[in-house]
Amino acid sequence: MQSKISKAVADHLLNNPFKLDKLFLISGHFTIIVLSLSFVLLTSSCSIFRKNIEVSRLRCEYKRNPVTDKLHPRLSWILESDDFGQKQTAYRILVASSPDKLSPGNADLWDSQKITSDNTYEIKYQGKPLGSGEICYWKVKSWDKDGNSSQWSQTARWEMGLLDKTEWKAKWIGLNLNDLGKGSIYHLPPAPYLRKRINIEGKIRKARLYVSALGLYEFYINGQRIGRDYLSPGWTDYNKRVYYQTYDVTDDLQTGGNVLGSILSYGWYAGYIGYALLNHLTKVKGFYGDVPALIAQLKIEYDDGTSMTFVTDETWKANYGPIIESDILEGETYDARKEFRNWDMPRFNDTSWKQAEIIDTTERNLECSPGVPVRITGTIKPKSVRKLNDSYIFDMGQNFAGVVKLKTKGNAGDTIVIRYGEMLYPDGSLMTKNLRMARATDTYILKGDQEGEEWTPDFTYHGFRYAEVSGLKEKPDTSVITGLVLGSNNPVAGHFECSDSMVNKLYSNIVWTQRSNFVSIPTDCPQRDERLGWTGDAQVYVSSATLNMDIAAFYSKWLVDLNDSQLENGAYPFFAPSPAGFGSNGFSPGWMEAGIICPYQIYKSYDDIEVINKFWPNMSKFMSFLEKRANGKNYFPEGSFADISPKGGFADWLSIGKKTSPDMLATMYYGYCSILMSEMADAVGNKTDAEYYSSLYQKIRQAFLEHYAAPDGRLKCNEAAYGNGEGYVDGSRGFSGNTQTAYANAIYMHMLPDSLIQIAGKYLNQLIEENNGYLTTGFLGVKPLLPALSETGYTNTAYQLLLNTKYPSWGYEIDNGATTIWERWDSYTKGKGFQDAGMNSFNHYSFGSVCEWMFQFMAGIRSDGTAYKNIIIKPDIPKDKIKFVNASINTMNGKIESSWKLEGGRLIMNVVIPVNTIAEIYIPSSDPGSIKINDSELKKLSYIKIDNFKNDLQAVKVGSGNYKIESKF
Ligand code: BGC
Repeated sequence: MQSKISKAVADHLLNNPFKLDKLFLISGHFTIIVLSLSFVLLTSSCSIFRKNIEVSRLRCEYKRNPVTDKLHPRLSWILESDDFGQKQTAYRILVASSPDKLSPGNADLWDSQKITSDNTYEIKYQGKPLGSGEICYWKVKSWDKDGNSSQWSQTARWEMGLLDKTEWKAKWIGLNLNDLGKGSIYHLPPAPYLRKRINIEGKIRKARLYVSALGLYEFYINGQRIGRDYLSPGWTDYNKRVYYQTYDVTDDLQTGGNVLGSILSYGWYAGYIGYALLNHLTKVKGFYGDVPALIAQLKIEYDDGTSMTFVTDETWKANYGPIIESDILEGETYDARKEFRNWDMPRFNDTSWKQAEIIDTTERNLECSPGVPVRITGTIKPKSVRKLNDSYIFDMGQNFAGVVKLKTKGNAGDTIVIRYGEMLYPDGSLMTKNLRMARATDTYILKGDQEGEEWTPDFTYHGFRYAEVSGLKEKPDTSVITGLVLGSNNPVAGHFECSDSMVNKLYSNIVWTQRSNFVSIPTDCPQRDERLGWTGDAQVYVSSATLNMDIAAFYSKWLVDLNDSQLENGAYPFFAPSPAGFGSNGFSPGWMEAGIICPYQIYKSYDDIEVINKFWPNMSKFMSFLEKRANGKNYFPEGSFADISPKGGFADWLSIGKKTSPDMLATMYYGYCSILMSEMADAVGNKTDAEYYSSLYQKIRQAFLEHYAAPDGRLKCNEAAYGNGEGYVDGSRGFSGNTQTAYANAIYMHMLPDSLIQIAGKYLNQLIEENNGYLTTGFLGVKPLLPALSETGYTNTAYQLLLNTKYPSWGYEIDNGATTIWERWDSYTKGKGFQDAGMNSFNHYSFGSVCEWMFQFMAGIRSDGTAYKNIIIKPDIPKDKIKFVNASINTMNGKIESSWKLEGGRLIMNVVIPVNTIAEIYIPSSDPGSIKINDSELKKLSYIKIDNFKNDLQAVKVGSGNYKIESKF
């Protein structure tokens, strides 16, 4: 059965994504495929000039037609028009309990009436109080700049989840199998199966399944897998909250006998996590509990208005069967001979099954999942297959996170073992050493079906490019396995391409790395026994992440995890979620500030005020922690973090050469967090805190300059204070304040007065020149490096760093075969081979934070304020090297495009500014008189405002519209 279901799930994505999207209407997000479809429709409709505005992309809490337990969910939409300078002057929202009531005068839940406003997002539902399970249909109309109204939008909806804890009548059930599966290294008990036959008397009008697990679950009704989500309910601090999913199962049930079934696995709750086993921690698995448990409630409403609820309880039957091992890190073993035929069908006889056990009676916080489900977001066909000894190595051509679908035929008991690796040794064999203790092995034991068998593991995933398959009887072709890409199904937001193929490969590698590491939480890497929500990695990459995908919902969920794991003393931890007993009660400068930087970025990118209000007490607590640590000094002198482990913190992790003083970096982060706090306080009208943090920032900057800057603007530290560096990360290399990382961060984090910014840029540039045009930065230095160069006029150096191909550079990785971003600048070198396998991931997004510069400086798309309501288009165009850039970002306000190309001394820009926004476009030009927009001279265009011409840049202010700009370059 299992293999049939997996095939169905994979096939539907291959063949018919649209049909299935409709099927699982509730769980939803729109997929990449659907997005591109709407894009096609949208562009094709552009051939007719649309003067009026059209309202589209209605979303609630960042999702299309979601289920939410928020009493006042936030609504948003976008506007489209081909007219110039179009904007919204008013809107009206109708919300009704059924589509036919959705008209003025009839909307029974809310009629906002006409509201004079240009807001199109963060609009809270203000209608009648809503109850559990209520479906709210809604639509919007907008009035444009001339007061003309749009048509009503299409109807969207949201549904309320279970709002009151007491509505949960179900019990946490399962089967304790911990006596089984004990091996010499791993303890991997089988996956419990649960089933319950129910009788439905009456005609079903509506049926909803509310379901979750301590561990992982899959749910089945009458032989059908429900939903398309993987690794549900995702990773949270299960002791603080567990998320449930809601599925519309109206069409899956029938009057009469039905079967509800579920398979459970250990997951993050009861399985292995991170490097606990590697580091011989006292506890190596089961950090939240030892036995997985299911909770489910099926609510059926009948045609006659009555309803009935079926819940998990001790009357369910339990057993274990074909999944004999199941773990996220270690992999899955499936013995198809042990399948129960039709276990999830009513006719199955379960008398030999045990009674389900009540696993947990703790009163848990069950909340409606605010995040994004993990799904199959793509499929990959192997590029080649080669025999190696007794096995075959399949090359997927791409490093990614996911599983494989295996297609095979053979005799009962034949055993196929699949191991995964990111790289091969020179002899062609699989390199698995860098997976450390992650066994990452899937095994399939055939049942001997002469029609052939298909199988995909259910509750694990691997980070890999190569799969080594052994046990095949015949030479396989590439169709024997298919790669199924798994990841949180965040909508695609960005597009980037340019004239340089290496840079395009870099962009592809960045996106693949993000896809591989946004799996329920943002992880450091998807392959080894780590896969943790490392906070440092998250904070350096979060801004880049927003450019590639719409991460508003995904990240809002992780911000809860992050705040749930805040330490007693106020610091944010190394990683989140942060299970107790994992030895994760430490903190480090550059990592802990994720607690401020990440919510700030979500606020900035999506104008999300809620994250500020929600986490303000936690964020303030963190700031107080820093203030206490600074001990009245407003800065951190050398040695301030000598008491933590690792000594001084992780510092500029994986940098090259002398280490940047960790205390200097901590001081800059302290100042930077103060600015962000001040800005966030301002955004929510908290004037007192805004002033407080603004003056704190001034003091920190002053103290920083006094201690860490020489009068000539050179950055310095007391190197002697670190002694021989013992105990510090790479301390033996010595410390310095005069590093690329120091200047780049000082510029980026506003730690310098205007008079010193250019000077710092000059020193930064000099350091790069002295290093033969190469970078030395680690995790903390790499993000601000190129932006700091561009900001201070050293764009050519920024491009040079981007285009370098020798060590250390992005180009070097690509030259050495990278298809994702590496953890280290030299994770692998042709000739030299692999870096230390103890810490060598080939799928680590931190160094991908250069993406921010690619969008903001190469393409020049920046937001002035929040959510790109005020846009700056200011591409930094090098004289040579790059001939064109095409980029776009889907924002809360719609799609922004910025493209440019150089053609025989002329620059041609194509800029698309969405409705309801304004933009300042900076046109690089050697002759402002040569500039034409949409084939007209500037001064002839009534819809643009000409600003000054300065530094070879002509600034113009525009509203929405498509602008083709030409100028002499
Ligand atoms: C992780 C990182 C993390 C680091 C702490 C590593 O093992 O993979 O990405 O930030 O530890 O320095």
